[in-house]
Amino acid sequence: MRRKLVVANWKMHGNLGRNKVLLNEIVDGVHELQKAEFAVCVPHPYLFQAQQLLSGTNVAWGAQNVHQNEQGAYTGAVSAWMVADFGCTYVIVGHSERRGQFRETNDNAARSIKLAIKAGLTPIYCMGETLDEYEAGVTEAVVASQLDGVMNIVGIPLMSKVVCAYEPVWAIGTGKSATPAQAQAVHEFIRERLAKHDLDLASRMRILYGGSVKSINAAQLFVKPDIDGALVGGASLISQEFVAICQAADKVSGRKK
Ligand code: PEP
Repeated sequence: MRRKLVVANWKMHGNLGRNKVLLNEIVDGVHELQKAEFAVCVPHPYLFQAQQLLSGTNVAWGAQNVHQNEQGAYTGAVSAWMVADFGCTYVIVGHSERRGQFRETNDNAARSIKLAIKAGLTPIYCMGETLDEYEAGVTEAVVASQLDGVMNIVGIPLMSKVVCAYEPVWAIGTGKSATPAQAQAVHEFIRERLAKHDLDLASRMRILYGGSVKSINAAQLFVKPDIDGALVGGASLISQEFVAICQAADKVSGRKK
């Protein structure tokens, strides 16, 4: 049974004062939920604050990126071990904003994933097609190449320590979520592709959906059999919204499909 997982991606938002209020409200809102799992991925400077405020709660924390090398002359970069020093559970890897704005490739993502696992973190590997690719009808080809591109380097045994996220780029931050049926179709495709490599890996892999998830559409997404939770951007900055999404995941968790 795959437990639902809801992960906040704060992106480059927040400050010490606002984070404190938001994290405390999230903790208050989810502390009685026992079936699903929750996490907040904060900007690197706030990892210490997240560790201070979330230790001992049922909300894990993580980073939004780690470098593809262990250490060295990479000004401004942060390694997997630095992030692990702050008690992180998760790190997002290969987000479309990293691919688009920072030119990160599948190869970069694969190297970050391997180091993240070596440092004891759980990578959340993001895949998804752009609007042009969606309109050209090549979603499956794009997602397949992103999945295979990483899996061929990371290998099956380490892939079992990864969480996948399907995030259509056209749905990120646009308010235009994929419909539950559209998202389910791609999640099913990802799981079938994993199954070609390893059946056990496919059945255990958690595949999150990301792209304008809000309290109004979360429950319909979470009831789909291959959607194991959500990666949430904008709505994760509003505590009531994020808590409601967590509640929806918890409610569906453990239900027979
Ligand atoms: C994201 O950036 O991972 C994301 C899903 O953003 P949003 O929820 O704002 O679309």
